Amino acid sequence: MNCSDYRTALSCRLDGEPLPEGIDERSLEEHLAQCPRCREWERRAKRLREETQERAAGDHIPQAPDPEVVRRILKALQSEEPEQPEQPEQ
Ligand SMILES: [Zn+2]
Repeated sequence: MNCSDYRTALSCRLDGEPLPEGIDERSLEEHLAQCPRCREWERRAKRLREETQERAAGDHIPQAPDPEVVRRILKALQSEEPEQPEQPEQ
């Protein structure tokens, strides 16, 4: 498991979707506890989601933002940050 696996799981969790195979809630929390980069990523992803929802509300769109759009934003967010080397185990 590397950070990008955990970030995929985080975005599933934000979407209310089941976590990818091989990652459970506990291992995700354990990773977050020791990986400040993923905590920061989750924080940004959450904020971006909230902004997307607020914007949708401001436009009087009577439904939640298209999950496909949110997914694209999350993907862009992911590619914005190139693969980081794993932190050494401590
Ligand atoms: Zn990480």
